[in-house]
Amino acid sequence: LDMPPPAESAVAELRATPPRPPRPQASHKGHWGDIAVIGGEGLARRGRGMTGAAQLAATAALHAGAGRVMLCLLDEGALSALPEQAELMLRRFEAIDPQRSTVVCGCGGGEAVQTVLPEVLEHSARLVLDADALNRIAADAELRTRLQRRQQSHRATVLTPHPLEAARLLGTDAHSVQADRIAAARALVAAFGCTVILKGSGSIIAAPDRTPVINTTGNARLATGGTGDVLAGLCGARLAVVPDPFEAAVTAVQEHGAAADHFPPAQALTALRLAQALQP
Ligand code: AMP
Ligand code: MG
Repeated sequence: LDMPPPAESAVAELRATPPRPPRPQASHKGHWGDIAVIGGEGLARRGRGMTGAAQLAATAALHAGAGRVMLCLLDEGALSALPEQAELMLRRFEAIDPQRSTVVCGCGGGEAVQTVLPEVLEHSARLVLDADALNRIAADAELRTRLQRRQQSHRATVLTPHPLEAARLLGTDAHSVQADRIAAARALVAAFGCTVILKGSGSIIAAPDRTPVINTTGNARLATGGTGDVLAGLCGARLAVVPDPFEAAVTAVQEHGAAADHFPPAQALTALRLAQALQP
């Protein structure tokens, strides 16, 4: 009989996280991506300590299976806060090879991110822009032009704004973004030509020439500090190995939500624990 499947099975299929490809036996760490996380303004600037944001993104990339993860903290003061994750490699910005790496830029970046953005936009082969990288771009016409120009060379770029960051980029307010989230995601794609993840309950993934996707995984336990940084790092890990940025973004958002859905109910979901619960 030619019957449509019941609605529940369509939802269940949407919720299923696609299996990760198997690792070839002879693969080495170079096959699984170099991720460079740039951000984490320290206490030295303006009394804000945001090194944790960059650490969370880096930890997420590591647990998601990235081959090598480099952490580039944006001021000298921040370097005294050594990451507890021994696998992370600390690097100065000058020591990062943006052509080779997948760059995740902006997590806890503060204003210091402004100075590195021109080079990051110009040279990164694959790029995830989050948080203060988006805020700086929203505030600076020249950076906006550089981002738009970058897309002419078809290099993979994923923007991961929450509603307020999206509003800043669009020159509107968060209420208007939330009133029509699909329209807002489309407007960001039209303005910048990148893949966009508009975060929040029912995250929307949109990209040029693609039908937007609404994510159905995840829950309100994600509404806690640092989970967005975890998504940025996970997104970097997937972008390093999945050539299509839209596919990489969809996979990352589904996995991030699924990790929250499977998180032990008796434990508080914290961003660090979420990062550690990700699967390669
Ligand atoms: P940020 O606002 O940058 O800290 O990112 C928060 C992360 O948690 C994003 O991935 C959001 O999509 C997710 N998130 C926050 N609140 C919810 C919610 N109520 N339901 C589902 N996901 C959420
Ligand atoms: Mg955030």
